[in-house]
Amino acid sequence: MTAKRTILIELPKDKCDIEYIKQLMALTNLAHRDYEVWIPDLPQTIQHQLYRFKDYMGSLVFGVEPKRWFARTWVPLETVRIYNDGFMKGDKSAPVVLDFKRNVIRLRQVCKNEPGYVIELPMPKWVVDRIREGGDVKYAMIGLKNDKPYLALVAERVVKPYQPSGYRLVVDVNAWSNGVAYGIINPNNRIAEYSPLRPNLRLIDTWYHRAEELSKELGRLRRLGLERTLETKRLRREIDMLRRKIYAYLRDFTQKKAHELAIKALRLRAEVLIDDMIGESRRELLEEKIPSGLRKLYIMYTRRFVKLLTTQLQWYGVPYEFKRLPSTICPVCQHELTQLPGRIMVCSNCGFKAPRDKVPMLWVTRLRINEQEEDITPSRPKGRNLSWGCQDLYSQDIFGSLERESF
Ligand SMILES: [Zn+2]
Repeated sequence: MTAKRTILIELPKDKCDIEYIKQLMALTNLAHRDYEVWIPDLPQTIQHQLYRFKDYMGSLVFGVEPKRWFARTWVPLETVRIYNDGFMKGDKSAPVVLDFKRNVIRLRQVCKNEPGYVIELPMPKWVVDRIREGGDVKYAMIGLKNDKPYLALVAERVVKPYQPSGYRLVVDVNAWSNGVAYGIINPNNRIAEYSPLRPNLRLIDTWYHRAEELSKELGRLRRLGLERTLETKRLRREIDMLRRKIYAYLRDFTQKKAHELAIKALRLRAEVLIDDMIGESRRELLEEKIPSGLRKLYIMYTRRFVKLLTTQLQWYGVPYEFKRLPSTICPVCQHELTQLPGRIMVCSNCGFKAPRDKVPMLWVTRLRINEQEEDITPSRPKGRNLSWGCQDLYSQDIFGSLERESF
């Protein structure tokens, strides 16, 4: 199968004509709906691109049909790759040039409607890494997000999942407040490594509450009719800055951890089991009385983590599976567990005691024993079929699995 990974790169706003990009996005929306509209004063090369893509729209990452008429739709673009040895792949006239010789990306007439208009960006390390891993970047997209221009690059790689070595990597996903816990179970069915991954909650909390305080202050000034004063402007700027800080921190943390886990699995040639308990996590967050704004953020980034992780597992050919692993049922006697302070779980029936995040890992070691028992039964097929766990890659919203690189 072909695995895909996408990166988003912010384009210099002063070098882009936002109105022109909006126009291209509107045209793309029409192209998705099978309308060919030729606008005389737009570059022919770019318009040709759009209608060429139409033929395989359904199969591309460009995804599902835009929901609304004239909704902004990312503009698909072809790339030409120029490698170090001078070898060239792709159409010479493609609007996006990935020049590995000079280590730059050139965008031709996609940022401004001016003959010969070119902007150059430094080549992201991400692209070089994906090429080194055997990928290719055949397509790009340009579009606006919060009115800022971005380039998205799509790397593709043909992969076959490997045969697991007997190691298992278990990923127990909670909302970020309790983090993600992972455990490595070795072929002898022992937990070889176990650790929770948690962002710096105190830092996020501080930023969040400061932003809330300032918002209240801003509201108060507004009610007094002091909408356009220097003070309100300053407040708004500070609130925006704090919010951006939280997003950036969570985004980086999510991206880094997803990558670390994918690489860990790859090195061990492990099979990955993911327990993605969004519903349960939401309840936990409610119980912990986390403010609703923060709760939404934690859930959003937890979702993003799972998408990033599965995208990367696919990319590296790591077999994975989603599996429900209970954390409130005793893995020894299956009695209900009671939670003590500090997220410690105990069994009143058999005396079992373990940190809550470790319970799912213990369940996996149990699963292994059950499977071995099953293997003895002749009526059952030997071994298990390892699935990719991925439904249709194309039906997913690619923006959930976007990576970022800042220059
Ligand atoms: Zn028990």
